Amino acid sequence: MVYFDEQPKSKMSDLFGREKEVEELMESLRKRKLTLILGLRRTGKTSVLLTSLDELKFPYLFIDFRGLGDRMYYTHQDFVNFLERSFTEFLKRHGDIAVYLRSIEGVSIRGFEIKFRREERVDLISIFNSLDEWAGKKKLKLIVAFDEIQESKKIVGLKLQPIIAYSYDHLSNVSFVMSGSEMGLVYKFLQVDDPKAPLYGRYISEIKLENFSEEKSKEFLIKGFKQFKMKVDEQLIKYAIKKFDGIPGWLTFFGVESVRKKRIANEKEIDRILEKATKLALLELNNFLEFHRATERYKILIRTLSRGPAKWSELKEEISLREGRTIRDRSLANLLNTLIAHSIVQKEDGEYKIADPIMAAAAKKL
Ligand code: ADP
Ligand code: MG
Repeated sequence: MVYFDEQPKSKMSDLFGREKEVEELMESLRKRKLTLILGLRRTGKTSVLLTSLDELKFPYLFIDFRGLGDRMYYTHQDFVNFLERSFTEFLKRHGDIAVYLRSIEGVSIRGFEIKFRREERVDLISIFNSLDEWAGKKKLKLIVAFDEIQESKKIVGLKLQPIIAYSYDHLSNVSFVMSGSEMGLVYKFLQVDDPKAPLYGRYISEIKLENFSEEKSKEFLIKGFKQFKMKVDEQLIKYAIKKFDGIPGWLTFFGVESVRKKRIANEKEIDRILEKATKLALLELNNFLEFHRATERYKILIRTLSRGPAKWSELKEEISLREGRTIRDRSLANLLNTLIAHSIVQKEDGEYKIADPIMAAAAKKL
């Protein structure tokens, strides 16, 4: 039982304060065919997902799209290599599925290693049909987990939606769970409200992870330090909580660093951790800017919001002033919606603001 570990948790005993969410997710995985788990970066989505799967004891295929890497685009071949790794892991746990998969054209299995034929597209529908058949024979439900699903759009030509829709309609023993940090992009990916989209009208149950409250953050840190028999310094804990704003991942990192030093990180060191967090957020921001047109306009918006929440009219004025002519409402709406979709900006009480304090610190450095 250790809270301060940088890896995502996969055991209930290592996961703090998410009993309700794990219970909800398990319930949904039992009953529903499509489940979403949403929350900003480092709120613990992967941890809640892995822990729920572990508790549930259903067989599962885990596909972590962050595992693809940092590039902007991936080829189908990259995807195939990546998929082979996930399936190989599955085969190690459930060797008897080999018989089912082997009969699919383009699939070959040697030992636990699975290979998909190079030149063609992987026939995911046949593969999911086999998984369904296997699970049905065993009277089990099989879960396919897509972690950070919005990243799958980087794979050129891959269309997962029709495959998920097919499975929803025809496979009774397979359910899907998808996580995403960039909520707007996840909804855009699923398109359940678009009558022309494959997943239109399908029911998706949703679980949202919030940051820890101040009280919960405190309890988490105190319990975490107790596990390592470390003396708790209330002042420093208070300082850390103020700085990390209840983001579970950064609170954990603060714990990990303190354990490494064998004493609780002091204010200076906390600031340094915050700097590291800010650097990461800045990297994300620059990544976003690099791959979007209208870079300058985004920069103006982000910089303006880094000074505090702002109204539509203020943002409009700021851009218009800089450019020397009035920006069209439609253009501004597009820019803001894109920032919201990427979980960089949030709209709250009619005002726009940077989504979290670490992103806000990064925005100041842009
Ligand atoms: P996400 O998938 O949302 O980015 P992760 O599950 O990877 O978040 O969690 C980020 C970090 O925070 C990991 O080191 C993880 O171990 C830790 N963590 C997150 N939530 C909890 C929790 N409830 N209890 C203990 N550690 C947590
Ligand atoms: Mg994750």
